[in-house]
Amino acid sequence: MTVLVTGGAGYIGSHICVELLEQGYQVIVADSLINSSEEAIERVEKITGKRIFFYQANLCHKQDVAEIFDEEDIDAVIHVAGHRSIAQSVIDPLEYYYNDIAGTLVLCNAMRKHNVRKMIFSSSAMVYGDLEVDDMPLREKSPCGKVSSPYGRIKVALEQMMRDIHHADPEWNIVLLRYFNAIGAHPSGLIGDYPKMTPNNLVPYIGEVAVGRQKSVGIFGDDYPTPDGTGIRDYIHVFDVAKGHVAALKLMEQEPAVRTYNLGTGHGYSVFDVIHTYEKVCGVPIPYEIRQKRPGDIAVLYADPSKAERELGWKAEKTLEEMCADSYRWKSNSNGYKF
Ligand code: UDP
Repeated sequence: MTVLVTGGAGYIGSHICVELLEQGYQVIVADSLINSSEEAIERVEKITGKRIFFYQANLCHKQDVAEIFDEEDIDAVIHVAGHRSIAQSVIDPLEYYYNDIAGTLVLCNAMRKHNVRKMIFSSSAMVYGDLEVDDMPLREKSPCGKVSSPYGRIKVALEQMMRDIHHADPEWNIVLLRYFNAIGAHPSGLIGDYPKMTPNNLVPYIGEVAVGRQKSVGIFGDDYPTPDGTGIRDYIHVFDVAKGHVAALKLMEQEPAVRTYNLGTGHGYSVFDVIHTYEKVCGVPIPYEIRQKRPGDIAVLYADPSKAERELGWKAEKTLEEMCADSYRWKSNSNGYKF
């Protein structure tokens, strides 16, 4: 089976490629390299000893996408490409809406034209919006609260678009994977999270502090309605997220439908929990300071992942300590990628 991974040079995409190659799939990657490096592809090839067919392609450019579908025989698409910063989506919504919505439209049109109707879409826990602590853990059927950022609203819109596409043409087989907070890195230390700009996600930023590139972590708010006042998230190892995609691909043999799954661990950890765990595994203190809340942030978010376990036979395995240890190994052993 040949799988096109959009955004395959990025953080989550590169880990998905490792899993796919190790499970015997042929992998084609389309990536604009706007926020990623081709070196990640070389490293994936080094880890697996297998080859990836790489296209530098911007999904918003019809010609780029047409070229891939004209040349390759694609069976299924894992669509990970997209902007990733919730905070940045609040600052520059136009760029986020344009890039992520137009790119997905172009991709789906090319799939239709070439009769490829198997799609796994990277969605997000952000579609649940700002719910109350009592609403946790989140089930796929949980009512959505007030979605707090353009990033989340784009994911809601694209999920709905996928359902409409399936409704109009039931041959489309679609899996919507709602990621919780993916962190960690490949245990080899060869691939990991390496955004072009200074990271604004918690764990990559802690890593910068741990290796001395930043002085301290800013904690965005300590008066949330949580036990220690800081935001709670369901952190999941990127390796487990990647395995979730391979499990979802197996559903492509079943009757076409739109299926939705949470990819989370079911455990919520606060910002302090993560800082203290990271300190423990890396053995250096992580200084922090309390800052203002970040626009678009929400208090608590963690999954009920039992539907994925029941239907995909998938369960997250790695602990928070393993996530932090792998993240630290990547940060301390590597200088990241060349851009
Ligand atoms: N956070 C923080 N300092 C940072 C980055 C994040 O306190 O430098 C907090 C953020 O407010 C949230 C949690 O850490 O409660 C996870 O944020 P992240 O950006 O990693 O993921 P998000 O859940 O926003 O996608």
